[in-house]
Amino acid sequence: MAGGAVSPLTMFRTRFAPSPTGPLHLGHAYSAILAHDRARAVGGEFLLRMEDTDLERCRPEWEAQIVDDLTWLGVEWDGPILRQSDKLADYNARIEPLAAQGLLYPCSCTRADIRAALSAPQEGVAFAVYPGTCRGRGMETRHPGDALRLNLVAALDVIGADVTFTETGPSHAGTHHIDRANALAQIGDVVLSRKGEEIVAYFLASAFDDADQGVSHVIRGEDLFDFTPVQVILQRLLDLPTPTYHHHPLIRDDQGKRLAKRDDARAIARYRAEGATPQDIRRMVGL
Ligand SMILES: [Zn+2]
Repeated sequence: MAGGAVSPLTMFRTRFAPSPTGPLHLGHAYSAILAHDRARAVGGEFLLRMEDTDLERCRPEWEAQIVDDLTWLGVEWDGPILRQSDKLADYNARIEPLAAQGLLYPCSCTRADIRAALSAPQEGVAFAVYPGTCRGRGMETRHPGDALRLNLVAALDVIGADVTFTETGPSHAGTHHIDRANALAQIGDVVLSRKGEEIVAYFLASAFDDADQGVSHVIRGEDLFDFTPVQVILQRLLDLPTPTYHHHPLIRDDQGKRLAKRDDARAIARYRAEGATPQDIRRMVGL
């Protein structure tokens, strides 16, 4: 950090936060280069975070490959790499105050129970909205292995009416107001954690880390736009600042399908092995 000259409030700081569950592909490279270049253009900071809360699917060798590919691409990050797997107990401890406020309840529904309770398929929404089967349960009924859910009605009552965030990405640019009816219909009582198994929701860990790392601008793919309202709600409940969001279009393949981790043909390592240069990759993603 440049000493003293820049106020922390005006510092531009962004991050790239891959999950080490597969190779870095063109879509990741686009996101990383975009965020990196934007930070460097304004004299800000660029951080690297491994979103490795999924202990079953994340692998150290994928992280090593991601680090190697980013270095090859000329994407340099400031400070140490943050690993979410180091913070699982911390995330769980930090949502306990919400339980004391009556905003959490234990849930023992299995996925099949939840599916059966839903009347219609939830096509096109980020969350399978929970029907509220366990909403009446008190925290004293919590069993080991129960999930903790956010009581969204109670949470919206606590944070009040005018909850907004700013989006600068091309598809959703503007000020977004979180509408109560929409939130209840599209988000519902989300699972935040499952303590015994050290499971924490992706969007919760990410919201804590953006705050902990002083991220002023979140730059990420449009596939994550639908998670933003629940993150902003959690930020209000947990007294965390709300960054500015920029959701960029996804890099798609020739058929218009979004790239996935399984698309090894688009892996940066593959292009490298075939003799591509970092400039070739930039050209391919339009940066
Ligand atoms: Zn339940």
